[in-house]
This record gives sequence, structure tokens and C-alpha cells, in this order.
Amino acid sequence: MESDRYYQSATFFKNFEKCEAATVAQLNDIYKPDINQKALLVGNYLHSYFESHTAHENFIKQHEGDMFTKRGTLLKDYQVADSMIATLTDDPMFNNLYQGKKEAIVKGQIEGVNWKGKIDCLNLDRKIFLDLKTTREIDRKYWNEEKRMWQSFMDEYNYPLQMYVYQQLIYQQYGVMCTPYIIAVSKQEIPAKAVISIPKKRLAEAQEEIETLQPRFEKVKSGFEVPIRCGKCAYCRKTATLGEITSMENLIN
Ligand SMILES: [Zn+2]
Repeated sequence: MESDRYYQSATFFKNFEKCEAATVAQLNDIYKPDINQKALLVGNYLHSYFESHTAHENFIKQHEGDMFTKRGTLLKDYQVADSMIATLTDDPMFNNLYQGKKEAIVKGQIEGVNWKGKIDCLNLDRKIFLDLKTTREIDRKYWNEEKRMWQSFMDEYNYPLQMYVYQQLIYQQYGVMCTPYIIAVSKQEIPAKAVISIPKKRLAEAQEEIETLQPRFEKVKSGFEVPIRCGKCAYCRKTATLGEITSMENLIN
């Protein structure tokens, strides 16, 4: 999308961190990542429910063809999504918390660069904003090879960075410093749920991360620096050529 070139977003920033070459190719429309369309659609189905009645109806109208089996029963993934919706809507704390403007678009600048974001639920009166996240299991551990430690899905997907950005953009647009919360719901047949806070220290780390990496990403984006290939992702594999012979000793490093 053209606006992805003009505005930085948490998604593209995280893509840059993973692989500069793939992200630049994507921004230049020469590469389209093969994302899990089905998982994305199920996520959108859930999000549309909490956006508004109309948004949900529209989603169903648009995707009816992909949501049902030939026999006319709802696909398993959507049945689970319905359970995920129900476990939240049946919960008094969720119903109390999840009040405010839905899908609020925010724009602003971070360190002189244009950023944009979309907040699932923004409540300026209460000075909070909430983001719905679906995940396999809320307490699942992910191995971080770089730090050589286990981490949660919150770290795995760097949600503190996204929440830091949203907090800053909300502040710039409305002059209100809001506290972020993640509403997590698991994709298990009987879904687990949690309201998750993010320590201030983690938001400060996210700020530092952006300040450190953003200048280079901007140069790469505008073509002043050559993007680095991660050598591992789908894009890098797709565009790789055999250049040298590898010793078996170096395969897993
Ligand atoms: Zn790559």
C-alpha cells in the first residue's frame, strides 16, 4: 500500500527488524509475503465482532463463501472464534473495560518520522486503550535465540513496541497519556483469556529500540543504504543463489 511507504507502522517496523530485504521488496510491491490468510481472516472475524454489529455483518456477508463446509456447517476455526467471542462477552470485567471508540486511527511523528496506528478500543476519559490479541496459548513459551531465554507471546510479537507507538500517537493527537492493556484470548477449543498490563520499563525499552533502529530503516527505505538479507526468510530463500560451498560445521550457526 502507498500509505505504508509514507507512514511507518508497528507491523512494518517489526518486519524491518526481521528482514530488511524482504520488507523493502514488499514496500516496492515486488514481493508479497505468503501470510496465513485463514488465520488472518479468523482474527478479522473476531475483531469485526467487537468493532460493531454492522462491521461483523459485513464481514460475514463478504466471507460467507469461505466460512462454511459444503454441508453448510460453520468451519471449525470459526466455531472456535465464536467461543473466543463468547468467553469475552460473558465476562463482566471485559464488558466493563471494553468501552470506548473502536478502530480509532491515530497518526503522528516519532523522532521525525510519520507513523500511523489503529487502536482497537480507545477511552480518553478513562485514559486507557485496549488491544485485542488472539494467540495459540496465553502461557506458551517461545525460545529467543539471541537473548538465549524463554519469552512470552507478548515478547515474541513485540507487543510492547506497538503499545508504545500507540501511546505516543494518542498523546500527540489528543494530549492524553493513556495506559495500554492487551486483552488476550487463546485459540484453544476452550479459550483462555487475560487482561495484560505492560510495565513502564518495557515501554521505555521500546522507545529506545525505535530510536536506535529507526534512522537506519529510514535510510534503507529511501534507498540510501542497501537492505541486509536475513538469509532465512521466505523472500531470502526465494531470491537466493548458490554462491559458495558450505562446510557442514557451519550449517546450524
Ligand atoms: Zn530475509
